[in-house]
Amino acid sequence: MKIALVGIGKIALDQHVPAIAASPDWELAATVSRSGRVDGVEAFTDLETLLETRPDIRTISLCLPPVPRFAYAMAAIKAGRHLMLEKPPGATLAECHALTEAARAAGTALYATWHSRQADMVAAAKAWLADKHLSRLIVTWKEDVCRWHPGQAWIWEPGGLGVFDPGINALSIVTEILPEAIHVAEATLEVPENCQTPIAARIRFAHASGAEVSAVFDWRQEGDQTWEIEAVTDQGTLTLKDGGAVMLIDGTASGQAAPLAGEYPRLYQQMARLVEQGGIDMDLRPMTLVADAFTLGRRITTEAFIE
Ligand code: NAP
Repeated sequence: MKIALVGIGKIALDQHVPAIAASPDWELAATVSRSGRVDGVEAFTDLETLLETRPDIRTISLCLPPVPRFAYAMAAIKAGRHLMLEKPPGATLAECHALTEAARAAGTALYATWHSRQADMVAAAKAWLADKHLSRLIVTWKEDVCRWHPGQAWIWEPGGLGVFDPGINALSIVTEILPEAIHVAEATLEVPENCQTPIAARIRFAHASGAEVSAVFDWRQEGDQTWEIEAVTDQGTLTLKDGGAVMLIDGTASGQAAPLAGEYPRLYQQMARLVEQGGIDMDLRPMTLVADAFTLGRRITTEAFIE
């Protein structure tokens, strides 16, 4: 199936282009970007021209930051195209609901991707937790923003999410692996005095069966980077490390890695399934938690962020 990539920036070049190239399901038939392109692939600078001149391309994958994404997404759906969205699926929940309704009306496939859910050991962690009683879960997601988001001014602007840009990845895993629901009970957001979005956050969640669930996100981590989820249960402690690539039970490596290597190849495999069978996969739970952290969060102004 032919697919077009829109927004040829960091994640498009790092992950989407190689995943499509390696996929038996997809052919990268065009790109849309104001400045980027992929060698050997027809390049457009605006989406409308692509939608008009390439009716043979039935699927669009959007790799733009969240704020400009909605207009592109709606245009693609209204032109009858299947649509794959980088995370988060929109700048607001209302945008996501509007896209869902539009895709339902148009009969097009719609996929809100959560790449971290496709990490190797997430499925194994979900299976292990399914019959355990959870007493405590702690998310620790600490990384160096200068290393992972160099020059990305949009993450500090309204709708850019700040530290929730990686934090939402952790929440996409937590909402996938926990058998019971959580919601935000309280949050603290540290916002640099020259920015609109937080550089660090702490959240306490309410859990349906009363487990203690909390998260700490921090973008000021130098040296070793930490993407870890620890779940303490009545039958031992599960630790997901390296963003879900490694699973330990009581300190010992455990579980079978998911088949097919890599997060983005699995996303494109799932998109192929959605297009072939028709359907909408728009799980908004990670985004709801982030939106609620912004709604309930106590703001602390912290020192200016200078890259
Ligand atoms: P990026 O490189 O800063 O931006 C992606 C592309 O979006 C840019 O190259 C730009 O293309 C286009 N763009 C930016 N602002 C725009 C605007 N106002 N209007 C139209 N186009 C605009 O960002 P990224 O890191 O790839 O992230 C994109 C999305 O992927 C985000 O939602 C992010 O959360 C997600 N993501 C990123 C990573 C990562 O490690 N970076 C990992 C997973 C997911 P042109 O200027 O050429 O048009």
